[in-house]
Amino acid sequence: MNDTHLRRLIESLCELPQELLADVVNEALHRMNETHGSENKASGEESRLFLGVAISEFEGPWELSVIARSRFSMSDSGYASPPLWDFCQYTRCKRCEIDLQSAQKEGRCPLCGDDVYMT
Ligand SMILES: [Zn+2]
Repeated sequence: MNDTHLRRLIESLCELPQELLADVVNEALHRMNETHGSENKASGEESRLFLGVAISEFEGPWELSVIARSRFSMSDSGYASPPLWDFCQYTRCKRCEIDLQSAQKEGRCPLCGDDVYMT
């Protein structure tokens, strides 16, 4: 991919609503993790790329949470574009013990793949 293609890709991504951009990036990261995931069997270490959000109120400390993946892959017939109401749904993955946010009520933890339900 040359510089022109990269610039066009970035411009196209920037035109998306942030909720849809999150689904696109999460899908790409998930596919990359599936094919290029970093796992060191000897040490037991594993790493994954994920999408997050940082929030600071009144210049206070940044609080981080992970953007949940959509329940469906974008290539699945069950996939529906997310509602455009910000990442206002919250939960905590019980297995990973990480805070998750989403624009949808149902999703998947991007680290362990467990289904999650948000409120
Ligand atoms: Zn998890």
